[in-house]
Amino acid sequence: MLSILLGHTVSLIDKYAFESRSRSGCSNSDYQLCQTECCGRFGVEDDELLDFYFDPTDLTRHIFIGHDVSCPFCGKQGWNFIEIDDFAEMPAEWRWAAPRDLRERL
Ligand SMILES: [Zn+2]
Repeated sequence: MLSILLGHTVSLIDKYAFESRSRSGCSNSDYQLCQTECCGRFGVEDDELLDFYFDPTDLTRHIFIGHDVSCPFCGKQGWNFIEIDDFAEMPAEWRWAAPRDLRERL
């Protein structure tokens, strides 16, 4: 509730945990868990560098979404995604990247 009042939501993706595996990003990178609207798959967006990570087991696999690219899962053109901020909706394969306090609530 507090985070909504402050005008930003707390990300489900912990920057430190994510970058310790991805070895990428930049100091201004922030990460959001996203779900595609076309096929309902999950990925992680770096909203500074506009990279979209789509494989939780291989973070070298990402695409640059600043250009017109098709969905990495189903190939749809003009795809979109929504940001997920409810831990309950976070798929198991991405939970290693969640902030520790959320992971320990399991
Ligand atoms: Zn898709």
